[in-house]
Amino acid sequence: MPDWSPLPDAPLFPPEGYAPLADAIAGLLGTKNDVLLVQGEAVVALEAAASSLGRPGLRALNIVTSLYGRWFGGWLRRAGAEVVDLTAPPGLPIGLEAVEAALAQGKFDLVAVVHAESATGILNPLAGILALAQATGALTVVDVVASLGGHAVEVDDLGIDIAVMGPQKSLGGQAGVSALSVSPRAWAAVHPGGEAPSILSLADQKTLWLDQGRHALPGTPSALEFHALAAALDRVRAEGLSAIERRHARAANAARAGVLALVGRNWVAEDQASNLVTPLPVPDSMSADDLLAELPEGHALSAGVGPAGDRLLRLNHTGPRAALEPVLSDLNAIAHGLHRLGVPADPGQALGAAAEAFG
Ligand SMILES: *Cc1c(COP(=O)(O)O)cnc(C)c1O
Repeated sequence: MPDWSPLPDAPLFPPEGYAPLADAIAGLLGTKNDVLLVQGEAVVALEAAASSLGRPGLRALNIVTSLYGRWFGGWLRRAGAEVVDLTAPPGLPIGLEAVEAALAQGKFDLVAVVHAESATGILNPLAGILALAQATGALTVVDVVASLGGHAVEVDDLGIDIAVMGPQKSLGGQAGVSALSVSPRAWAAVHPGGEAPSILSLADQKTLWLDQGRHALPGTPSALEFHALAAALDRVRAEGLSAIERRHARAANAARAGVLALVGRNWVAEDQASNLVTPLPVPDSMSADDLLAELPEGHALSAGVGPAGDRLLRLNHTGPRAALEPVLSDLNAIAHGLHRLGVPADPGQALGAAAEAFG
């Protein structure tokens, strides 16, 4: 045992180590665009994108399917942009007809959307939204924080101008560093930095890092966080991104089959469901909190987040939980809780259906 702790005494992160991290993330995103590393959790990268693009005169269509989208609109407005929020029905993805109708209401310079939501387990129809937005010439900003690793995200094939990722969801890493990709068109729309450097200014990150040859990051980066990111990316490389995506898809199939067996239906159709979280619609006779209160000690379930939150229980199968065992354990706990509330639920059947669907 060394007489030092790896936490406070972490060795320096080598200055030449940052560019390979950005390159690895570019590979995962499927992009040749610039990738910036942001020293903060993914909401900081989202706030930086909104703060750097937002300005008076900019019109944005902001699709809201959770609080992240709501915040994004708020940051754009704070930067002076005119923002139209397009909010999906509670707990559901946005419909393409709604996007099309909103885009027909005027000229938009930017369209923002979250790909997949961990809050409610829904998947937005990203390719269709992007095609509609691109037909109007709008820039596109996509939050792929939850989806990267759970669903295919091909930034260049899809033509995403700014994609924001974080390593701590499907990729199973830590939350301390996030990243975003920036297309040449997006760079042209980013406003220049101010008098003092800002973590929220993409232009500053460009001047202080990209244009300096991508050596040491500006400021005093936390070595610990970058070692953690490097280790997470090594793991992703070892397993393979498509294997990680398949593992999430199998866990989602298992969860959906188990939920169907337990309560007779799923919250959304399969093509509207994320591979990260499966929402169980709680029976009408109870709220999510009623059911949570009856679950056995140590369970990993939570109520939905947002306007449909109390109608949903979230089975989280993201990152290391994208495996059969956590899904079976969640289903077993729910069957137990339903039984205690007088709702017949057969755990054997649910677990069997889940195991079969996992394949
Ligand atoms: C978790 C999440 C975020 C925020 O990421 P943090 O790193 O926790 O700040 C943003 N968007 C989506 C869709 C998320 O699931």
